[in-house]
Parts: sequence; structure tokens; C-alpha cells
Amino acid sequence: MNISVGAQSDVGRVREGNEDSYLVHEPLFVVADGMGGHIAGDVASSTAVDVILSKSETASASDPQTLADLIRSANAAIWDKAHNDPDLRGMGTTCTLVLLNENRAHIAHVGDSRAYLLRGGSLQQLTEDHTLVARMVKEGRLQPEEAEHHPQRSIITRALGVDSDVEVDLDLLELQPGDRLLLCSDGLSGMIDGESIRSTLADNSDPQAAADELVRRANEAGGEDNITVVIVDVTDGPQTSTTRTATARSAPVASTTDQSPSVSGERPAPVSQEPVRAEPEPIVEQPAKRRWVKPLVAVVIILALLAVGAFFLIDYLRTSSYYVGLDADDNVTIYQGRSEDLFGIDLDDEVESTDLNVADLPENLRDNVEEGRTADSREEAEDIVADLQQRADELEEIKTQDQAGDGGDGGGQGTKNGDGKNN
Ligand code: CA
Repeated sequence: MNISVGAQSDVGRVREGNEDSYLVHEPLFVVADGMGGHIAGDVASSTAVDVILSKSETASASDPQTLADLIRSANAAIWDKAHNDPDLRGMGTTCTLVLLNENRAHIAHVGDSRAYLLRGGSLQQLTEDHTLVARMVKEGRLQPEEAEHHPQRSIITRALGVDSDVEVDLDLLELQPGDRLLLCSDGLSGMIDGESIRSTLADNSDPQAAADELVRRANEAGGEDNITVVIVDVTDGPQTSTTRTATARSAPVASTTDQSPSVSGERPAPVSQEPVRAEPEPIVEQPAKRRWVKPLVAVVIILALLAVGAFFLIDYLRTSSYYVGLDADDNVTIYQGRSEDLFGIDLDDEVESTDLNVADLPENLRDNVEEGRTADSREEAEDIVADLQQRADELEEIKTQDQAGDGGDGGGQGTKNGDGKNN
């Protein structure tokens, strides 16, 4: 059984630096996703990879516990560094490791970087995410499809460097010729869905081309996080020229286009050569805090937009029209705005009051004015007032005539006043 490898690590389109590290040291493969601020995160993930590489001879396929021990050694080294350097306090990293031996893949895993298997065109996730949402799905408190977009989906519940010891998940896979393994950081699995990963792996037979295409697609989808992929093909035939027997890790922080793993076994630049980040963040809460920033900002922006929207709506309602109604003394009054309230907010301002009382109006007009008669402009409102005044004057005249005659009957008022008016 032979293997061919493709690998790629990219800073993505949002982050300043690449905190991911990976190792291609056949038959050992690792992806580590650091956290804790961009210097500390890089130190955490590269320490994991460096320790695993330096102790790789101790890993024995016949005893999977040696893989767990390898990861525990990395954990201890990161834990020590974090405690001895205030700038690195709170750093941590995921670690997903695969050791191939004959026709088996031994998998050791902590965190939310993943291992997948593509076999016969279908994709299977081999690792279980150590995340809050994965736990909630397991406990039936969240649907898997809800987890994909959950605001807390990036909060991890297990990482290297967070405690003096760490629990490591171990798994074993019987390999078949044609199998393709993928290790990746959540910058891939969080940006494109399983079907996109599956089709990309299925459509690109060359492992390096597949790795490049996965990174390209994650960036196309937003590239919100560092993206690292390691692809291992298990083949029947002779080793291909793309097979590497070298060590590599992700590019220095400044690089945004890390190329294929180099064969030089290069090491990361010492931390002191990089700009020192002033604020180390606390351990597990740190990624949670950092990853909460976006939803919080979004909520604040939405509230601000709603407030601005409400302000303009109220302003519009208060200024876009007029109505003729009654004031507290029941005098006919012109208001700017609306007679209705909006959630208890007054939408009107008095602009002109008159001496015309509602009692002076014909009965059939009183309710109408009490409710408020809408006008598109102040001129139209003034026309309405003038008309009401005229109707009141007519009523007054009739009353005067009735009194001048011998009383008459009042029933005629309503009839007369109802005639010839189209208001
Ligand atoms: Ca990440």
C-alpha cells in the first residue's frame, strides 16, 4: 500500500495571521489549529507539531496509547510555555493526528479539527468535534443542521495547552485501496459544507490539486478563518512523484499563500522576531470570547439600525401629513402628523388652533372631526377648517332665522346641513 499526499495552509481572507500548523511526515500526519491571539495561537499549534515530530519515533502502531502519549507530551509543552510567558498565557490548540501502518489508520484527536474519509464517492467524518454544539447535538438539545450555523459553534470544549493533562480520543480505521483521508481545520469545515468537501475530493484526483481547490472554495465562501488541509491517498500502485517524506508546517504569519509543504524541515521564526501581542487572553474562555465578538457586534448594529429606522419612521409620520381635529377644549385645530399614537409615542404637533368649537358644528360632522380629518398639506387642512367654519356659520344662520320666526322645527338642520357637501 502506497500513499500520495497533498497539503495546503492559508491565512484566509479575514485573519491577520495563520495560527494553523500541520505536519506531513509520512506515515504521520497532523493538523493543529491554534488559538489565543495570533502570536500565541501560532506558538501553540507549531509547538504541538514540533513536539509530535521530535517524539514521532515513540509512536507505535501496535500500541495506540503511544499516540495519545504523543499528544499529551505536546499538551504539556504548550501548558509549560503558556505558564512561563505572560504573552502566551491562555493559548491552546486543537490536534488531529493520523498514523498509517500497513492497511490501518490510527487516529488521535483533540478539538474541532477533523479527519474525514472519502471512500467510494461518499464522505464520512471520522472524528467527533469537541465543541459545545457537538455536545448539544449529542444530548439531543440541538439539531445537526442548527449546529452548522449556531453562533457558538466554534467554542471548543477540549484543547491542548488548557490544562496540565488532556483527554485524547483514539480511533482505528481499516484502509482500502482508493481511500482518501482528509485532515482539516475548522476554517475549511466551517466555511463549506460536507457536500462541497465531498465533491471537491471526488472531482480532483490529484491530492495537491484537491487540497488547493478546497482552500480556494473556503476562501470563496468567505475565508473567515485560517484554512489548513492535508489529504492522504491510499493507493495500490507504486508511489507517485507527489509523495513527500518531509516535514512541513504552515507558512510564517505574513504569508497568505502558503505553498506545498517544503522539504527543508524548516521551523517557524522565533516568537521574539514577531510583533508581540499585548493582550494574552484566558484559556478556554478566550476563543469563546473572541468568537462572540461578531454576533455581539451584529446585534448592536441591528439595534442601531432599528433605532435609526424608527427615528426616520416617526419623523416621517410626524411631518408627512396634517389633520384637522379637536384640542383639549374641543376647538377645531390643525395638527401636523397623525392622530394615532405609535407604541404610545405622540405623532402630532398643534400648528393652528381656532375658536370654532365642535358644538358649533352640525351634528353629522362632529364625529368626523373628533376622529381627525386627514389632509395632505397645511393648505388642504386650512381649506377643511374654512369649510367647517362655513358650515357652522350656516347652522348659526338657520338657528337665528328659526328664532326670528316662530321656533320651527330643529329636524331641518341636519337635512339642510347634509345637503350639497362632499367632504
Ligand atoms: Ca480555526
